Amino acid sequence: MLSVKDIDVYYGNIHALKGLSLDVNEGEIVTLIGANGAGKTTLLKTLSGLLKPKNGTIHYMNESIVGKQAQTIVKAGISHVPEGRRVFATMSVEENLELGAYSRKDKNGIEKDMAKVYETFPRLHERRKQLSGTLSGGEQQMLAMGRAIMAKPKLLLLDEPSMGLAPLMVQTIFRIVEEINKEGTTILLVEQNANMALSVANRAYVIETGRVTLSGTAKELQASDDIKMAYLGGH
Ligand code: ATP
Repeated sequence: MLSVKDIDVYYGNIHALKGLSLDVNEGEIVTLIGANGAGKTTLLKTLSGLLKPKNGTIHYMNESIVGKQAQTIVKAGISHVPEGRRVFATMSVEENLELGAYSRKDKNGIEKDMAKVYETFPRLHERRKQLSGTLSGGEQQMLAMGRAIMAKPKLLLLDEPSMGLAPLMVQTIFRIVEEINKEGTTILLVEQNANMALSVANRAYVIETGRVTLSGTAKELQASDDIKMAYLGGH
């Protein structure tokens, strides 16, 4: 579904991604594990058209998406939930969700998906008229995910969905990630919480200073001593 080959991405002179390659197959949850500054967010931004690689190729559904505009990429079915759960604070929950569907014209489909988002996140339904800026951190993360779902993505890019959330809320968010995947959305998940990420993912890539240094099934990585020491708290 997604094939990234040898991409180099720069911020001015800073070489953030160095010949990075990875693949995501339809139906999978793939997770990217790596320390702060490894380049995970840079990769997601590149996939969603916010940054352009200097070299290398990115194919999505067998078509090159390098150089395409962000809204064209959303229309093609890639939806990005950025780090820090950015919601439009002065708009209601419902208005934020409607915005997620801005590129769609199928009114019936939009209504159906709105009902589905409310079913998945009952809390958002309770608060649908509330201003988004007054939601709790966990609720804002739900809203950011709900808004991305409203774009009807085939591939969902999730950047650190557990960041700053209490443990119970982290579990809820990961359960929902699994549900969204079971309903047919492929997921590329960036996470600091490697334990949780590997417990829901099919496969994983470890990224260090802009390069993939290890990849395999989630089970293989969970069993690797190096990974245990570096990312799973040494247990
Ligand atoms: P984190 O988990 O801390 O967000 P990350 O793996 O997502 O880390 P990136 O944010 O992709 O890492 O950053 C990769 C590298 O690019 C880092 O060295 C970072 O300092 C650099 N970088 C990121 N954004 C910019 C920017 N706008 N300008 C210059 N350098 C940047």
